[in-house]
Amino acid sequence: MKRSIRSQLSFMTAMVVLVTVILISLLSNLFINWKFKDYITRQQRQNTQELAASLGFTYQAASGSWDTDFIHTIGMYALYDGYIIKVYDNQGNSVWDAEQHDMSRCAQVMADISERMQEKYPRLDGEFVSQDFPLYQEGARIGTASLSYYGPYFLNENDFGFLSALNTILFGVGLLSLILALLVGWVMSKKISRPVIRTAQAAQAISAGDYQIRFDTAAGIKELDGLVASVNQLADSLHRQEALRKRLTADVAHELRTPLTTVGTHLEAMMEGVWEPTAGRLLSCHEEIIRITALVQDLESLAKVESENLKLNLKPVNLHQLVKSVEQTLETEIYRKKLELTIQGNVSCVYGDPDRLRQVVLNLLSNSAKYTPEGGKIRVILEETNCDVIMTVEDNGIGIPEEEQPFIFERFYRADKSRNRKTGGAGIGLAIVKSIVDAHKGSVNVKSVLGSGSQFTVKLPKA
Ligand code: ADP
Repeated sequence: MKRSIRSQLSFMTAMVVLVTVILISLLSNLFINWKFKDYITRQQRQNTQELAASLGFTYQAASGSWDTDFIHTIGMYALYDGYIIKVYDNQGNSVWDAEQHDMSRCAQVMADISERMQEKYPRLDGEFVSQDFPLYQEGARIGTASLSYYGPYFLNENDFGFLSALNTILFGVGLLSLILALLVGWVMSKKISRPVIRTAQAAQAISAGDYQIRFDTAAGIKELDGLVASVNQLADSLHRQEALRKRLTADVAHELRTPLTTVGTHLEAMMEGVWEPTAGRLLSCHEEIIRITALVQDLESLAKVESENLKLNLKPVNLHQLVKSVEQTLETEIYRKKLELTIQGNVSCVYGDPDRLRQVVLNLLSNSAKYTPEGGKIRVILEETNCDVIMTVEDNGIGIPEEEQPFIFERFYRADKSRNRKTGGAGIGLAIVKSIVDAHKGSVNVKSVLGSGSQFTVKLPKA
């Protein structure tokens, strides 16, 4: 049976607390008992010695007699504390004997102590023992005191009272911490489980195709907040991908339909003899076919550079030469639009795949040529730092709206779709650029102001 994260967390907290409380209670009880026994034994030894010392004072040397009233007082107090006293003089005659004095009281005390001790410390195996203490006064022996008590040690009523109060406090503290910990555990598990549950629900909704779902459950816990943010990002990116995919199908269909229809109707008209197959008409058909071929080629090269195992044929590449050669390729376009292309700076060789890097330069420059009106200026700047080579392609063309800039490197993304119908791009060029630059462990960025121009910066590591 699967348990919910909340009940699991609460259960675990409760278990941990329970074990801790039991362990602490047991250990502290054991420790206190051990220390207490120690203390009681010492206390008892001191008591017996003090009793013997005070009994020494009850002898009146001047008259050679004992102050039996005084002994009686000491003896009765001692009896209540659990000591049965007998005093003998030097000749061994009994001076005072608690048992003789109050037999029933002594028997009662002995019975009470034995019963209590056997009940609480059954393993102690104690019994009443007697110990003789010689009595002295000013250095001279005056007699003997025999003290009987429950040995090896015993606890009187006060001691038991103290221990039971201590145990009650320990139990109370344990119970209180248990309740408190359960409460904290419950609150904590609620706090932790809520974002997890919500994230799971969101992930479920996402897997069911609801990419619009967003939620903000700030748990104040770094990892959980990160999880929530990641799921939101996932939904975001899936949403965009989904939109891109839909647009791709629409775009590809549209891109193909127009030229295919044109070519189809033209050829039909020529075949049926409605149109003369003039060179101009054949040329326009040919141009349409070239456009379709270019689109298919673009799709193909994107698939290639985006495939997992893009293999780079690495060798030293002279970027300056590469830009020059691309300039030649675009010569007609540049001439037709009367564009002014300048190349500034020179850099040492960069280690890369010449064919792929050529494609990067070609895509960037042909974009600049495409999106810059007649008479515009395009500038390629080559610079280098210690580790990188930086190529900037700058134009004073139509620019890219700021809100579209983050997406132009995505596949099939075309800023301001309507304007691209005329230019004919399918939004693949920059995706190819990014894939190739990424494969070279470089980076590509854009800065652009709508209406005044764009600047693409490619940074490639030298080695
Ligand atoms: P396309 O084939 O549409 O040019 P790209 O991936 O090369 O596709 O570019 C994506 C979009 O970025 C283009 O549709 C265009 O709107 C914009 N873009 C790219 N380069 C430039 C540029 N130099 N000036 C203005 N817009 C540009």
